Amino acid sequence: MTTGSSGAITPVVGPGVDVETVRTDFPVLHQMVNGKPLVYLDNASTSQKPQAVIDTLVQYYTMDNSNVHRGVHTLSQRATDHYEEARAKVRRFINAEADEEIIYVRGTTEGINLVAQTFGRQNVGEGDEIIVTAMEHHSNIVPWQILCQERGAHLKVIPITDSGELVMEEYERLLGPRTKLVSIVHQSNALGTVNPAKQITDMAHGLGVPVLVDGAQSAPHMTVDVQDLGCDFFVFSGHKLYGPTGIGVLYGRADLLNAMPPYQGGGEMIKSVTFEKTIYNDLPHKFEAGTPDIAGAIGLGTAIDYISNLGMSNIYNYERELLEYGTQRLSAIEGLQIIGTAREKAGVLSFVMEGIHPHDIGTILDTEGIAVRTGHHCAQPVMDRYEIPATARASLALYNTREEIDALVKGIDRTIEVFGRGL
Ligand code: PLP
Repeated sequence: MTTGSSGAITPVVGPGVDVETVRTDFPVLHQMVNGKPLVYLDNASTSQKPQAVIDTLVQYYTMDNSNVHRGVHTLSQRATDHYEEARAKVRRFINAEADEEIIYVRGTTEGINLVAQTFGRQNVGEGDEIIVTAMEHHSNIVPWQILCQERGAHLKVIPITDSGELVMEEYERLLGPRTKLVSIVHQSNALGTVNPAKQITDMAHGLGVPVLVDGAQSAPHMTVDVQDLGCDFFVFSGHKLYGPTGIGVLYGRADLLNAMPPYQGGGEMIKSVTFEKTIYNDLPHKFEAGTPDIAGAIGLGTAIDYISNLGMSNIYNYERELLEYGTQRLSAIEGLQIIGTAREKAGVLSFVMEGIHPHDIGTILDTEGIAVRTGHHCAQPVMDRYEIPATARASLALYNTREEIDALVKGIDRTIEVFGRGL
């Protein structure tokens, strides 16, 4: 795949993912770390950026930098055009009905906080209930806890099985007349489980309850169609989707967004201001107070072009095959246990090893040039569920290879050599 300075992408791949060609698009991958070729397997934290995205940022700051929506001059109009074109790309990427349903935010975390502080404050009262799952990232727990504390409402949790699947009968039991919102992770960052978001949404809608889907992990790995899912809100982060940090998206159904109060006050989000009365702007600007991350939004648009060009179903199939290979290889290591073995799973190999702390695994792997994440992955309740302090997590992206999985296995063997087995 090649790029021009405008970030325009020329496809050079056929059906499927030609991983060797793809890898040439990611400059950061081609370096030595601790004397070994970098094996980057921390993609659930943040993914690497293709040259096209880097070029877009350079191009923007080199030629177009200007504030959006405020100027009549050429640079401002150019910046505004690119910024709004990127919004349309996001809309097409998740198949939303209208551009106005796409709100730029800093990331998934801010998107969820926005909904909690606006929709939540408006609709959740004393004794009401919000349902989440036992496999949420902290960013889909804490904003609701803050809201519940303020309102005297309750957080209800759908439990998970040993393999990391939701107990749907419990969900059905939890749904009730006090439920004001269901907020679920689409794909767990700690376990890799892909939840039945459409079914969860249908069940909630049966009672007229809106649903927020945390797509931080799903959006980079599978086709997302918010109209097919039927969800009311969908959030994701640009930096996990091969785009820049500091930019993310909140999708919301226009009727809900229109009924919600603003999140932050300031410039951009108003039509007119007097000391007596302020009239708020239309969607999406009502929720975009202040100067946004313009370069980030435009860069996100290029990242979306990049992966759309490869094809989300190609990416999904490629990564699924890689996950199966990784699961096979890791399962064969004596004393290693994979945490998260759901039937529907993507992109994540979380594991623990008898007698070796995950941090020690991560440290030895780093000496081999292999980047994995160790810790609770901002999902402490998941660790509690499995009664473990942490896991080591290898998480996949479209540029990872079978050879890198082999390097991971070799690195784990090296860890066993250093620390012994089960000591
Ligand atoms: N939700 C899930 C499932 C995540 O994996 C993450 C990040 O790891 C987040 C939310 C928070 O994303 P961000 O830190 O980009 O706001």
